[in-house]
Amino acid sequence: MFENLSDRLGGVFGKLTRQGALTDDDIATALREVRVALLEADVSLPVARNFVKSVTEKARGQAVTKSVTPGQQVVKIVHDELVHVLAGEGKSPELRIDNPPAPVLMVGLQGSGKTTTTAKLAKRLKDREGKRVLMASLDTRRPAAMEQLAVLGTQVGVDTLPIVPGQTPVQIANRAKQQATLGGYDVVMLDTAGRLHIDDELMAEVEAVRDAAKPRETLLVVDGLTGQDAVNVAEQFDGRVGISGVVLTRMDGDGRGGAALSMRAVTGKPIRFVGLGEKMDALEEFHPERIAGRILG
Ligand code: GDP
Repeated sequence: MFENLSDRLGGVFGKLTRQGALTDDDIATALREVRVALLEADVSLPVARNFVKSVTEKARGQAVTKSVTPGQQVVKIVHDELVHVLAGEGKSPELRIDNPPAPVLMVGLQGSGKTTTTAKLAKRLKDREGKRVLMASLDTRRPAAMEQLAVLGTQVGVDTLPIVPGQTPVQIANRAKQQATLGGYDVVMLDTAGRLHIDDELMAEVEAVRDAAKPRETLLVVDGLTGQDAVNVAEQFDGRVGISGVVLTRMDGDGRGGAALSMRAVTGKPIRFVGLGEKMDALEEFHPERIAGRILG
């Protein structure tokens, strides 16, 4: 489907096996291809542009060693820089859920996989860290979404807050926190309502919930296949609500994962987990090298 970057650069450099430093011409030619590859992998244009700029600086003056071709050398520089940007400064710290009951706010657009991810993450915290988790759906407009979380809760063996019709999202958030305190839960996960598009009402609602719940973590769930849109969503949620991390879903699909790079570069917020399917255990920690490999093709 896509021509991978190594092949592409192989074509550009041809049979050239010259050694010595990469020349400015080599670099300029190669990085045009890198830019196209990034855009094909759904990296947003400004992010691709900046990325190419910083790689150009790193590539200048680098000696081409005997064992590799200039093309391979550039691929390595690009790969290392991708991992560097995706990983951010050091390893992502653990989720801040040490002070029970720690509120975790789940935000994102409708259909991004927010409810599924809430249940997956609750299961993970229970199974791997022995946490007692309480989940609550704040989607007062869609009773089906509340039911969905209850069904998933039963499936993964995690409690959900009983549904009381007629309450506002803030009232539900308060009730969830109270219940979590009384019930001795470690973590209370709040699955906020989504919309198909970002609108002011949604943002105001999520802000009000945030102010009431005072979350320790606010995780934005984004569909990893939506590319450039994912970046706009991340920017807007981060600007209005403030996010502490990102979960990229549908990474089991055939997308190239460029959204990860764009979101990391634009928001500076760590990608914590990736969703790899519909099953309840299809959630993994984020591995920058895997996404870097995928972006390069
Ligand atoms: P919400 O509206 O954001 O709460 O989205 P849902 O959690 O209801 O998910 C919407 C659909 O996406 C459901 O059919 C999920 O099973 C599916 N889904 C969620 N995460 C993933 C994922 O990582 N991979 C795949 N393939 N499907 C997912």
